[in-house]
Amino acid sequence: MIFQAYLHDEEAMQQLAGVVAVAMPATSPLVVYLEGDLGTGKTTFARALLRSMGETGPVRSPTYGLMSEYTTPNGRVLHLDLYRIRDPAELTQLGLGDYVVGSRLWLVEWPERSGGKLPASDMRLRLSVDEPGRNVEIDPTSQAGQQWVTAITADRTS
Ligand code: ADP
Ligand code: MG
Repeated sequence: MIFQAYLHDEEAMQQLAGVVAVAMPATSPLVVYLEGDLGTGKTTFARALLRSMGETGPVRSPTYGLMSEYTTPNGRVLHLDLYRIRDPAELTQLGLGDYVVGSRLWLVEWPERSGGKLPASDMRLRLSVDEPGRNVEIDPTSQAGQQWVTAITADRTS
């Protein structure tokens, strides 16, 4: 099952993020690959999801280093943006393995630049520009992801 929607504006994106947060299965950590060209709204979605998980501080793309970590009331969230990665070895240096235990969610922009050094995804969320808004497609890539997308779809159609 693939979930698809048109997000007319950032408000619609925030609404979807709220649904995605509520629909999250218990499995931890959940790994979401955020796909789409520059400017399609990957960081905006990451911020919206963090807000829905109760993060109140600023959420920007990590500018120094490739990763930011947030401690939300709903668990620790890792936000990775691999746009500026030069060598997948940089991921090894981050010691990502140490973050697997104890994190609730990983959000990864530009996962295709990881050279295979990321944990497998549970779902992929793909954004594309369709002015004035964005098209979003969410497809599950694990059993937990399937549960997640099923719950998102059920919430959206009820
Ligand atoms: P990315 O991380 O994919 O490069 P950003 O999240 O930085 O993209 O967003 C780029 C621009 O798209 C921002 O100016 C943001 O306001 C705008 N934007 C994000 N989501 C939407 C939406 N659903 N509808 C319209 N504009 C959006
Ligand atoms: Mg971004």
